[in-house]
Amino acid sequence: MASTPELQHTVGKSAGFSGTALHTGEKVTLRLHPAPVDHGIKFKRKDLQDEPTIDAKIENLKMVERATTIGEGSIRVHTVEHVLAALWAMGVDNAVVEMDANEPPIGDGSAQSYVDLIRKAGVIAQEEPRKFFHVRDIMHVESKTGTLIILLPDEKFRISCTQAGPNNQFSQFFSMEVTPAVFEREIAPARTFVYYEDVKPLMDKNLIKGGSLENAIVVRGEAVLSKEPLRFSDEFVRHKILDVIGDLALVGRRIRGHVVAVKPGHATNAELARAIAREQTRRSAVATPRTMPSGDGGLDIDQVMQILPHRFPFLMVDRIISFETETKCVGVKTVTINEPFFQGHFPGHPVMPGVMQVEAMAQVASILLFKLAKTTSRIGYFMSADEVKFRKPVLPGDTIFIHAELTKSRGERLARAKCHCVVNDAIVSEAELMFTFLDK
Ligand SMILES: [Zn+2]
Repeated sequence: MASTPELQHTVGKSAGFSGTALHTGEKVTLRLHPAPVDHGIKFKRKDLQDEPTIDAKIENLKMVERATTIGEGSIRVHTVEHVLAALWAMGVDNAVVEMDANEPPIGDGSAQSYVDLIRKAGVIAQEEPRKFFHVRDIMHVESKTGTLIILLPDEKFRISCTQAGPNNQFSQFFSMEVTPAVFEREIAPARTFVYYEDVKPLMDKNLIKGGSLENAIVVRGEAVLSKEPLRFSDEFVRHKILDVIGDLALVGRRIRGHVVAVKPGHATNAELARAIAREQTRRSAVATPRTMPSGDGGLDIDQVMQILPHRFPFLMVDRIISFETETKCVGVKTVTINEPFFQGHFPGHPVMPGVMQVEAMAQVASILLFKLAKTTSRIGYFMSADEVKFRKPVLPGDTIFIHAELTKSRGERLARAKCHCVVNDAIVSEAELMFTFLDK
């Protein structure tokens, strides 16, 4: 399991290029600058007084029509998705994107010019590890227009995308692992495509002054219009993946999961990014250390070890945090990567074995029984475990709250307990345990 953590990266030096802004048609210069660890990607409006910056974070998302707009207060930056996709996919975690207008130069409608710029600036490692979002449970978003995005657990960041136009015209599929090399070769050159019916009203209203066949592919009926021929036969779905990467970069953490997207758009991409951010907040909130009551309210590890005969590596309770009644209590087990079972369960993919959770429930339940009987001269043996359910994986770093309630005890020899384990406010496992007590 020993592997060096992936480090955060920034650009090696400042670099810039100029081009046309899509909406205003004016000239804009974009410059990338290095930034310290944990800075993230920030956009800087050099053309405004005090040169305000805007965090490329999902909470700053303002608009998702046609392109992704972020903002803080009254300051806006439009069409951020292609430059964000390039930075994120090329491995840049921290950078300042400085611009003298409210949107980046559109280039040729792909991420190629940003990749070229990042290459020019270089990408260098920093001293802090990257922050990840590991997908634990399947997440999904859908829209009334037929968009569906599913996020599955995966050790890598992968995207599998299906794109289809009106009447399923130009149906295309592409699947990839997002790495700098694959992105640069397969995704970055894919250009924006638009439907003639959608852009005609905008052109009429003069809202896309910088738009031309040099920076977009226009689909009109069966016809595909562009200055340069298609770069890939499936260029459309590749561009959709580009947009997914750019929009999900707003999460601000490296996703470890598989995005399966059907006809994705900025609105649903953003909705998924928001759901991920919410889940991350929930996890971080629960992961902060709690002050645990000691003394009469519970039992510390010394007291637990006076009661339970179990020892390393089989003592599965760190502390009892509370006794609600004589027959009900909550124990805590902090699961670390040092648990011996993670070595083999599984190499490279540590998941706490379900039977160890059942063992933890049994130990907490027997503490109740020992306390009731006021003796520890006996030892508890499992007779049965019923209604056992494992609902969610338990991973290194999780704190398990083990709830146990004695539902029946016949004499001092037989007991039944209803137990469940909770991680991050969600039940991860449950069981009904029956055990008997024999003299040691
Ligand atoms: Zn796009």
